[in-house]
Amino acid sequence: MKDNNEALPQLNELEIYVEASTSREGEIALFKGPGQDFELKMFKVRPLRPGEVLVKNVYTTICGSDLHTYCGLRNEPCPTVLGHEIVGEVLEIAPGHPGIDLRGRQLEVGDRITWTVFSSDPNSVNSLRGMPQKGDKLYKYGHVQASGHEVFHGGLATYCILQPDTGIIKLADTMPLPVAATLNCSVSTVAGALRMAGNIKGKTVLITGMGHLGITCAAMCREAGATWIGGADVSAKRLNDALSFGADEVFDMNADTDVLLRSIIASTGGKGADVVFDMSGAPDAMEFGIAGLGIGGCAIWVGAVFNTRPLQIDPERIIRSLITIRGIHNYNYEDFQYAFDFMDRNWQKYPFIEVVEKEFSLDEVEHAFVYAVAHKPLRVGIKF
Ligand SMILES: [Zn+2]
Repeated sequence: MKDNNEALPQLNELEIYVEASTSREGEIALFKGPGQDFELKMFKVRPLRPGEVLVKNVYTTICGSDLHTYCGLRNEPCPTVLGHEIVGEVLEIAPGHPGIDLRGRQLEVGDRITWTVFSSDPNSVNSLRGMPQKGDKLYKYGHVQASGHEVFHGGLATYCILQPDTGIIKLADTMPLPVAATLNCSVSTVAGALRMAGNIKGKTVLITGMGHLGITCAAMCREAGATWIGGADVSAKRLNDALSFGADEVFDMNADTDVLLRSIIASTGGKGADVVFDMSGAPDAMEFGIAGLGIGGCAIWVGAVFNTRPLQIDPERIIRSLITIRGIHNYNYEDFQYAFDFMDRNWQKYPFIEVVEKEFSLDEVEHAFVYAVAHKPLRVGIKF
């Protein structure tokens, strides 16, 4: 008992710790709004508060939602520090932090980690309902307004300060940084989507939108035992990617919709797909997906995290075909761990090592975004 008591920091110790905390300086790439250049600035790292962890960012991938913000398709409070698909190295663990990752492994200074895109109050109603991404006191890395000393909360910066109740996973050095960086957004979101779909084993699956979410979904469904996986997109390059990540058949959405649907029906034994995942957010793709479902089918919508036109759905078809539609935004801690386990087992089985098509330094962040918008690679990486 005595040892336990000694391990817990007392209030006066916390105050001393905060006072004694480091006075590091780091760079941030400040995003001031769509159409404006990033501003590179040096800031002092503020002292840690109890329960926080200071991380040195080592690799960040630029996610589709970063690009949407950059292009003005979604609004974030500006100025902000974008980037939330991050791998970092532990520099300091403040008293009050449990000192372990989600799997109970001891966290040490120098450990390579990734962490949930959010933190929230674990005792809030939504957290207790299995939706911590909608919990109280929600804090999302790469989505917080930069103000005063609160600037180290995104991936486009030298450091990131992790809030208490952030889910951390310790990474092995064997997983390459460009693979590990995508774990905490795209891969975990796909894990959440599969959870929403239920058991995939023996099912036929159609995926619309073959960006990083789509190709990861194809590989995850393959590993989960899907019997047939169709991938649909408007880009020939992405359809080609889909085949490398486990899709059996691909559908060019530029073609006539009725022809495509007939082909899907034929490939699913005349029934239509059991599950359709929409990763694109395109209304046409979501409507197409519903049309491609068979009796008892389930549509999981993931991609439309921006404003779209309302969909046209025939309610009679939803009712008579016993169709379910579900949405998933972000993921919970179990999905995050599922994503890690999946990637740990499979990053060499599928070409995940190739998803980062070009790397940049933080000083080249403007070029990184311009390149990503112009060339639509699966990911660009920022290497520190
Ligand atoms: Zn993201």
